[in-house]
Amino acid sequence: MKVKVISILEDNYMYLVIDEQSRGAIAIDPAVPQRLLEIVTREGVTLTAVLTTHHHWDHARGNEALLKELPDLRVYGGDDRIAGLTNKVTNGQELKFNSVNVRCLFTPCHTSGHMCYFMWEDDCTDSPAVFTGDTLFVGGCGRFFEGTAEQMYHNLIEVLGTLPHDTKIFCGHEYTIKNLKFALLVEPENKRVKEMLSWARARDDDDKPTVPSTLLEEFEYNPFLRLSEEGVQRFTGKKDPIEVLQVLRKEKDNFKKPKERVLPHAMLALEWGLLRP
Ligand SMILES: [Zn+2]
Repeated sequence: MKVKVISILEDNYMYLVIDEQSRGAIAIDPAVPQRLLEIVTREGVTLTAVLTTHHHWDHARGNEALLKELPDLRVYGGDDRIAGLTNKVTNGQELKFNSVNVRCLFTPCHTSGHMCYFMWEDDCTDSPAVFTGDTLFVGGCGRFFEGTAEQMYHNLIEVLGTLPHDTKIFCGHEYTIKNLKFALLVEPENKRVKEMLSWARARDDDDKPTVPSTLLEEFEYNPFLRLSEEGVQRFTGKKDPIEVLQVLRKEKDNFKKPKERVLPHAMLALEWGLLRP
């Protein structure tokens, strides 16, 4: 199976998975439907299904327009709020599209109906893939809009973290540089974070995506998967992995421009005051 990575909107990704034998295709989070249909036509494939990770507009807003064009299309997802949903799926449910298999992994927290999709092909030695929406990013994780740190711990460590280590990670946004800057603040000594950050910057210069990574790589530099590491525990001042995750996410929510945090405005004003004759 071939995965086409398509950059859309400001920093979103939609994906087209092509089964090369049957020429059938599955789209993941096709939020810009016209663009997707152009690619479907150009590739000479038949779009049979849409997998939606969650109901947010930048992931689901293309579904209804696609259904208008292709009335037989099936739109899968785990949340009734998903636009154009035709087939609601539950945790562990398996779908089959010719030789492509999908296992639905319920990962509530970013939204209460978030679903990730683990995918592999019959009789194929390629690594499997997982489409993680806004749950796991390259170097980071999604915001806890409708869930708790306990849920995200379960999603990251017990669900996604137990997939085969060579699984390719295809996430919902290109947030890699921002995520790795935060990862460097958490673990300044982690060589893999530094290497990955300079690689991601070079990719950005060339306008190339940083997806996919692999689960094994994420374990090396993504602080949200490194909750038991000493450096991550030290940064958060916690030992319990769920508490570590809670603090990490809170710090990340407040992480904008680290330099301003070193010298807050009040301190600057004070310094200027002292410098004045
Ligand atoms: Zn979202």
